[in-house]
Amino acid sequence: MIQLKASRCVRSLSRESECNKCELICPTEAIVVAKNPLPAINFSACVGCGACDAVCPNEALFLDDFSSTEFFFNFIEDDGNLISCRKNVPCIASLNIENIISMTLLKKEVVFDMGHCGTCAIAHKCRPEIEKNYEEASYILEAMQSTALIKLEDVKYEKEPSSQEHITNRREFFSKVNLAGVVKTKHAFEKEIQKATDELVEHTLQKSDIALLKQKRITDRRKLFFTALKRVEKPSVYHVIEADELTFTSSKEINSDTCTACQMCYRVCPSGALSSDIKNSKIDFDPFLCIKCHICHDVCEPEAITLSPTYRVKEFFEPEVHSLIKFNVRRCDECNIIFSTNSNERLCYRCKAEEEEARELWGIKGDI
Ligand code: SF4
Ligand code: SF4
Repeated sequence: MIQLKASRCVRSLSRESECNKCELICPTEAIVVAKNPLPAINFSACVGCGACDAVCPNEALFLDDFSSTEFFFNFIEDDGNLISCRKNVPCIASLNIENIISMTLLKKEVVFDMGHCGTCAIAHKCRPEIEKNYEEASYILEAMQSTALIKLEDVKYEKEPSSQEHITNRREFFSKVNLAGVVKTKHAFEKEIQKATDELVEHTLQKSDIALLKQKRITDRRKLFFTALKRVEKPSVYHVIEADELTFTSSKEINSDTCTACQMCYRVCPSGALSSDIKNSKIDFDPFLCIKCHICHDVCEPEAITLSPTYRVKEFFEPEVHSLIKFNVRRCDECNIIFSTNSNERLCYRCKAEEEEARELWGIKGDI
């Protein structure tokens, strides 16, 4: 069954966040992103395919009975190269694109068993997602000049699962697994109750989550990706790839004419890809840390931050921090505090706002 770690959902960082990737991929409409900032989940509708876990940019969703990170390590150590919902994963769509690329780089060849998709009740959403991941991963591997490849196959088993054994209903499968131990702990009991309740469960931030919101965190899948890249040969030539083809990272640009130095984008960035210094005198960007969560775009009122049309493969192997913009740092003429600005403004934001309010109130034109 799926669980939400509220402090990691990018929607908890700003009301402006438009992320609803989990809602869009869920094959049973178990996740609803409505007015409440955080997604609501109908646990009884969740079939435990893990597709939402895979698309969530900040690892906010996780299955309590399958971990893609644990699977990664087991798979790398295992002699086999087959990934199958009939063998080792709840659904191939539960694997995120970064883990797919990392595992393929390390194994040299990975096979996706697509043989069950034809009869699977959730294939309408999950099969196109698996194929999209396959295409993206293959494109990136090729751009890295890697000979590692992914194959889509209809695998024939010596003993095909009988129609009774066939797991066509993931919910039934997981409920069997979970009920096998017959609810031994309070935690397990609560989960069983959640599953039995056919209603949307809202999520809210707890006090303990608030401190976590400010922490910049590199996702586990990014750490594994970085480790895998360290173990393979660098390409002889670094290609430039179409940014549209990349779902898990990006390159950014900032329009210096429209940026107001409000600091929102790098303060809200959950991965630390956007950053500044102690004086707030600049915005730097590390493409390798970016998880393409889009929240920096969502919070930027003047829409000054944009996606670059291309991404350099070099960033994977030799990550570089790019300077996007520099600001003037000066003392406010009115209150003397130090502030940064992208113009010749002499007043800090607070004094400027007060001045504008006074002008409006008293109908003052020209200098005060
Ligand atoms: S995909 Fe992740 S970050 Fe986006 S709304 Fe869902 S839980 Fe939040
Ligand atoms: S740079 Fe923007 S898209 Fe990338 S991780 Fe930070 S907030 Fe998300």
